[in-house]
Amino acid sequence: MPACQLPAFHLMAKPGGSRCNLACRYCFYLRKGELYPGSRFRMPDKVLEEYIRQTIEAHCIPEVTFAWQGGEPTLLGRDFFEKAMALQKKYRRPGMVIQNTIQTNGILVDDRWCEFFRANRFLVGISLDGPRELHDACRTDAAGKVTFNRVMRGLSLLKKHRVDFNILCTVNAANGDHPLEVYRFFRDGVKARFLQFIPVVEQDQESGTVNPWSVRPEQWGKFLVGVFDEWVRHDVGTVYVQHFDTALASWYGEPHGICVFSPTCGTAMVIEHNGDIYSCDHFVDPDHLLGNILSVPAKELVNSGRQVQFGRDKRETLPGYCRNCPVLFACHGECPKNRFAVTPEGEPGLNYLCEGYRMFFSHIAGPMEFMVQELNAGRPPSHVMKFMAGKKTTGDGSRTHRRNAPG
Ligand code: SF4
Ligand code: SF4
Repeated sequence: MPACQLPAFHLMAKPGGSRCNLACRYCFYLRKGELYPGSRFRMPDKVLEEYIRQTIEAHCIPEVTFAWQGGEPTLLGRDFFEKAMALQKKYRRPGMVIQNTIQTNGILVDDRWCEFFRANRFLVGISLDGPRELHDACRTDAAGKVTFNRVMRGLSLLKKHRVDFNILCTVNAANGDHPLEVYRFFRDGVKARFLQFIPVVEQDQESGTVNPWSVRPEQWGKFLVGVFDEWVRHDVGTVYVQHFDTALASWYGEPHGICVFSPTCGTAMVIEHNGDIYSCDHFVDPDHLLGNILSVPAKELVNSGRQVQFGRDKRETLPGYCRNCPVLFACHGECPKNRFAVTPEGEPGLNYLCEGYRMFFSHIAGPMEFMVQELNAGRPPSHVMKFMAGKKTTGDGSRTHRRNAPG
């Protein structure tokens, strides 16, 4: 297949593997270090160069994004990233725009890092779980020390240097009951404009039970509803919440912005520090190891039968309960990693968070339909704020919602 007909793909890099300076209670990636006993957990120059060269060469579109994650990628030091920038410059084609994003806990961010991020136009994702007590409930270092002050210090430096940043908040058992407190802290305290909320769902490897810091299904639904009710009345067009943007795309009939709400997936893979490529960040295990970039070109691994089937399985393994669900068009059964519950009929493969998603997507139907109507009429969707003015909410996300309730 000629390169320009290849589907776009995304290889999220873990240049330092799972190595991290924190030990958050819910982290699913720390234990991945066991896959590489004795490793230095540092991407060798040869792997770095292949990763950058192959990624650029496989993209015929004029824009390529490199995403750096971990573990904690800043542990590699700026030298590593300076090298990566030089390689991007070396292989960049004329007219091509290269973007870099990095997900960090912010602990090591100092003036020098900020200057680097600013000079290279990085988008920096900061992991923050809300105000002090809610953040510190799970995000501690290896010695068990809390981290809120250190993260906030890094964040204020990013702001001082005018580095673009967004907030990634993992929603867990501790902060899950406080949607308004969390959202208002990000909006008014941090003054963040781009927010991502990720539900923590982790199973105990031995017992198969859900770990106590995981968010509960109804808690997740109420969290999203609580944030939405505030956003849709005050912040449409000024604060961007990934779940709400993606939902609007679903109602509008556009492609879903994120893999978990797409009908199929499989185009967002992970490259580990040694060049191993895995099907997805949540499937870094021997069964989902596709190959190594030093021996097989990444574009072949992306299009391998195994990976294509991995992506199709998201749709093909949906239980009947999902296939007949009124909000399937927006949910698509969410991520297969969370599909370990059973349907009311006893069929396996239902998403653990289903109750929450049914609640959330049903609740937002009215305002979503209104926003679509406005878009179709060439008017801004932010008009929904007037439409919602005066409609009742308890403000804590605890109301029980029926479908199409607003309207
Ligand atoms: S398995 Fe889940 S996280 Fe991974 S690509 Fe598919 S939907 Fe996305
Ligand atoms: S809300 Fe539940 S039943 Fe509906 S598609 Fe999502 S997981 Fe399936």
